[in-house]
Amino acid sequence: MLLFVAINSRYIHTNIAVRYLYHLCKDIYPCQFLEFNINQDLNDVAFEILKRKPRYVGISTYIWNSLFVRRLIEVIKKTIRDVKIILGGPEVYFDTLEDWRYADFIVKGEGEPFFLEFCRSLSEGREFLLKGYPYFDLKDLPFPYRDEKIDQNKIYYYESSRGCPFRCSYCLSSLDRQVRFSPLEKVFDEIRVLFDAQVKLLKFVDRTFNVNKERAIKIIEFAKRYSKNTQVHLEIEPSLLDEDLIEALNTSKEGLFRLEIGIQSFKLDTLKAIDRDFDMERIDKNIKKLIEKNRCILHLDLIAGLPYEDFKEFKRSLDKTLLYFANEVQLGFLKMLKGTRIRDEARLYDYEYLSFPPYEVISNRFLSYEDIYRLKHMEALIERLYNKRTLFWTLRYIFRRFSPSEFFERLSYEIDLKKDIREILDELYRYFVRYNLIEDRNILKNLFRYDILKMYPEEYLPSELKYSQEEKEKINTYRKANARSIPRNSRVGLFDFDVEKFISNGSLEGGGFTLLFPNTL
Ligand code: SF4
Repeated sequence: MLLFVAINSRYIHTNIAVRYLYHLCKDIYPCQFLEFNINQDLNDVAFEILKRKPRYVGISTYIWNSLFVRRLIEVIKKTIRDVKIILGGPEVYFDTLEDWRYADFIVKGEGEPFFLEFCRSLSEGREFLLKGYPYFDLKDLPFPYRDEKIDQNKIYYYESSRGCPFRCSYCLSSLDRQVRFSPLEKVFDEIRVLFDAQVKLLKFVDRTFNVNKERAIKIIEFAKRYSKNTQVHLEIEPSLLDEDLIEALNTSKEGLFRLEIGIQSFKLDTLKAIDRDFDMERIDKNIKKLIEKNRCILHLDLIAGLPYEDFKEFKRSLDKTLLYFANEVQLGFLKMLKGTRIRDEARLYDYEYLSFPPYEVISNRFLSYEDIYRLKHMEALIERLYNKRTLFWTLRYIFRRFSPSEFFERLSYEIDLKKDIREILDELYRYFVRYNLIEDRNILKNLFRYDILKMYPEEYLPSELKYSQEEKEKINTYRKANARSIPRNSRVGLFDFDVEKFISNGSLEGGGFTLLFPNTL
């Protein structure tokens, strides 16, 4: 029996590679597939595999599971010596059997042609005949979730194209420049199954979803029509966006599309060095148009550790990106992946990087390890305060005068994120006061209180913002007078001015204002 094994990074992920292979091969040779994740106990995983007594075990390897797979195949091989281990996936693409002592075969290129021929040769009792690494025709890909009970809470991945026309020097997809598409009718039929099953999140794994504009618009319109509760995640190249595509996205239901947009840097020398010589003005305009309509959830990526970008310059890229006020900004760190041009050029820029996955940069000629360490702290703060939208309005106000990157850098020396969130909020308030980040103390006090009550119960207010006895009485009186209209467990906030009006038009209307916050916890 041939057992396909997926080791995902989280339980909620689903692996399409093993599903494709299983559905393609199961009628040719006895096959099964199993799915695990790296957080499971290694012995539990090995035992589940061994229990099935496979003759062949095929495993997809990626940077996130490579170390797990290395240990797993040692256990498998030392337990049943005649089992044959077949490794595939991007993490072994540039390796040989010498790099993987316990593996018997390494599949380079696409797994589908290899395993089809492998199973045919086994069932016909003949030699393996496949030569080279042919591409697989996407029209012959089976629907990966066929005959499966759909779990709405898992993330479902879908592939409607392979390859990428761009050549970003740090990316493995740049090696597969021939873009191939699945027939549109097939795509519609298959994603409709996932929409009808109301999965929460459908992620297209297409490297550049909008590489073919007309096709992208058709899929977007289809999703607008048939998705009931499913959010659709797309990786978009912003320089390829135009009025039609933006219009299609900007007329969608709020939150239907989640767009992952790689900016990586705003520094032109850097972009040139990594072969991302895109029109940055156009990118800037396109992102602003998407932000302005606020229909799509925008996730913007930056990469620290690229050539020619030092700490100060990276902070400039970071400022520009944070000031879009997108839903999420991901500050990632360059990974020197096997087979990429940037890894071949490591000496040119004095790169030091981890020799094991995820091959992350340690330093280069432009960034010291100390800089990287500082950026890691800033990244954690951005994740906690900016992406989670804690203190969203307070930060927006602060960023009118202070550069966001300067703010996060200074904060990274002061705030220990390992502490409890209540302690952190307390410290943050004191920090904002100490450094006079919002000169008008009354505005700071009210904005901060507003942000906290939007997300947390009253007890989370910093000690300086806790309600006085008099204020508590006012809230009680308000609660009693409006007992019927106040939803259960909602929070009542007292403010010195109408904060929501202030946020929308900057007007400061005096007098006591009461606002209700529904319980979102
Ligand atoms: S980073 Fe994106 S655009 Fe660049 S080669 Fe990779 S997939 Fe293509």
